[in-house]
Amino acid sequence: MNGTAELDLVRDGTQCWRDLVATLDDAELDAPTLLEGWTRRHLIAHVAFNARALGRLTEWARTGVEHPMYASQEARDEEIARGAELTGEQLRRLDRESAEALATGWDALPADRWEAEVRTRQGTMIPVRQTVWMRAREVWIHAADLDAGFGFADMPEEFLEQLFVDVVGSLRARESGRRFVVSVEGRPDLEASTSEDSSAESLRISGPLWAVVAWASGRGGEGLASGSEVPAPTWL
Ligand code: ZN
Repeated sequence: MNGTAELDLVRDGTQCWRDLVATLDDAELDAPTLLEGWTRRHLIAHVAFNARALGRLTEWARTGVEHPMYASQEARDEEIARGAELTGEQLRRLDRESAEALATGWDALPADRWEAEVRTRQGTMIPVRQTVWMRAREVWIHAADLDAGFGFADMPEEFLEQLFVDVVGSLRARESGRRFVVSVEGRPDLEASTSEDSSAESLRISGPLWAVVAWASGRGGEGLASGSEVPAPTWL
């Protein structure tokens, strides 16, 4: 998928996310999300501060002056906790303005700076163009985490296909000793095994694309044809 298609995924995902947030009144913002320990206020604050953090990486790529995503893990967590104290009106404004600032930052990035390397929160160096896909993941997956009537089954097919490749690659990199054989019903092109080691314990995960991707993203086994009893990996 090229950069323009990923920018389209971010634009559409941001709109979907914002529309869901707009349906929630202030009392509904206090309800829990699907992420343990976080209310919708925490999640909205996190999505906004993630936009700012990715904006800092974009600024780093543009200027060559290092700007980390977050000063520290503690600073990130404190910022989310503080953000969750904002009024509904303030949260909605923060959400809107942070997303617009990120889009403006990408717009201002010269064509020859998109391969510039920046560091993720996990410490990995990546070309800054990957921040677009990172943001697409944030807005679409957290839209489901918001628990406001939108789920993986509602996500666009092209997003789910790219996420499938991403999450299966991530499982392959992290899992040893267990071998996941992941397949999507009706999609022989989307079949993967996370290890070549045939002596490893083999676990079959299959179902519709949305359900397989939800499981591999650490969001439970609902909708799977097989493997729903296999604990979902932690991922994002
Ligand atoms: Zn997130």
